[in-house]
Amino acid sequence: MRLILRGVFWFGLYLTIILFPLVVGVVFFDPRQAASPLIYLSAAAGYIAIALMATELTLVARLKGVAGAFGIDSLLQFHREIGIASIAFAVAHPLLLVADRAYTAGLLVPSATTPWPVTVGFAAFIVAALVVGLSVYRRLLRMSYELWHTTHGVLSIILIGFGAVHILGIGRFAALPIMRTLVIIYLVFFVVIFLRYRLARPLSLWSRPWEVVENRPEHGQSHTLVLRPVGHEGFRFEPGQFAWIGFGPTPLNTDKHPISFSSNGDIPNHDGAIAFTIKELGDWSGGVVPAVKPGTRAWVDGPHGVFTMDREEGAGYVLIGGGVGITPLYSMLQALETRADARPVFLFHAANDFDDLTFREELAATAARMPSLTLVTTLVRAEDDWDGERGFVNAEILSRHLPPTLYRHFQYFICGPTPLMDAMEAVLPKIGVPAERIHTERFDMV
Ligand SMILES: Cc1cc2nc3c(=O)[nH]c(=O)nc-3n(C[C@H](O)[C@H](O)[C@H](O)COP(=O)(O)OP(=O)(O)OC[C@H]3O[C@@H](n4cnc5c(N)ncnc54)[C@H](O)[C@@H]3O)c2cc1C
Repeated sequence: MRLILRGVFWFGLYLTIILFPLVVGVVFFDPRQAASPLIYLSAAAGYIAIALMATELTLVARLKGVAGAFGIDSLLQFHREIGIASIAFAVAHPLLLVADRAYTAGLLVPSATTPWPVTVGFAAFIVAALVVGLSVYRRLLRMSYELWHTTHGVLSIILIGFGAVHILGIGRFAALPIMRTLVIIYLVFFVVIFLRYRLARPLSLWSRPWEVVENRPEHGQSHTLVLRPVGHEGFRFEPGQFAWIGFGPTPLNTDKHPISFSSNGDIPNHDGAIAFTIKELGDWSGGVVPAVKPGTRAWVDGPHGVFTMDREEGAGYVLIGGGVGITPLYSMLQALETRADARPVFLFHAANDFDDLTFREELAATAARMPSLTLVTTLVRAEDDWDGERGFVNAEILSRHLPPTLYRHFQYFICGPTPLMDAMEAVLPKIGVPAERIHTERFDMV
């Protein structure tokens, strides 16, 4: 209930921030300067577009209250959708002006006679289209994450700057002192959040360094890095959560990647050590991580995320993990064992082949110690003598192992490749699992 109230509070605040300039305009604009309804609508669309764009950063700036209420993955999804929606408002803004006939399309396209605030508005629109276009088509354009991330940040600052100059320069509604003040407050708010996200947050990690104490290879082309806090106590985390980790002498300009904890967040009096298990997939995970030596300085920004059974009450748990998606589920399993939780747990572990089964020995040992755990392993390519399940996790495999009827009351945690997640999100509701009991963590959410 508290979580719902927090969600309602933050969403209400968000809507207020977006719509407040319109309320100010309605209350304070001099009716004697009345314009046509289309011009009002155009101005409203423009103000909404820039307010949506200026607040985009707050959604992904890892602000504790906001992230704790919704989860970073949901916020990233919302950030993406709002980015696209803001473009729709930005397109509507000039189209409504042209529809009013007080403006011609020619006046809005820069030329020698175009008023400069209009030219700046046009430039803001082009930059906005670039920001959204590069984000939507990043993978298609084969743009590296790092290049996209830097470009995204720089273009967003230019966009907000151009947008604010456009509003202040046009001066219809912004001629009102209260409106000018509001635009400047929004601009300062954007700059503060930006500095907090890109400067203050990395700087705050400086006093909490970590050291790699072990780097061990795992099945499935993965490596487990064990990190110990240096000069501080570290932190506890809820099993299933993740952190951004990076290496290097300072936390500034360090390439940081989101990785789930693969260790137990619950061991009482532990020495603060935490572990991450990372599959070799790209330049960082396949190049930097395998070469990390014990003694390397590491920086950990976390814990983050709401993919954790600690926030969901249920009669039991069904964990469905594919490939390296097993990591947060293994963390949950370790915590359940430590807590001697007697509720039934079903772990469906999927991999391409036997060699791909990260933590297969550890999971078998846990199953031997934990009577409440049912371990089901399925392989896409299996030897003839394989006695587990075969193929992808599907409704048949689930129903063969889950207890009839009772399974609808369990909480479901799914983490793995996109096809597995999509399949489970389609299959589980069909077999009667309520949507609110299905929780997913998408490793490709960015
Ligand atoms: C919440 C979460 C938890 C994750 N947990 C694990 C885990 O436990 N084990 C594991 O092996 N992988 C995990 N991942 C995936 C991991 O973050 C990426 O595989 C890794 O960052 C790839 O980096 P790369 O440079 O090697 O690969 P690249 O080929 O450069 O990138 C592949 C994709 O990874 C994502 N990515 C790359 N760099 C970053 C970054 N700095 N920040 C955000 N996303 C990035 C992008 O979507 C990119 O397209 C997790 C991802 C998320 C979102």
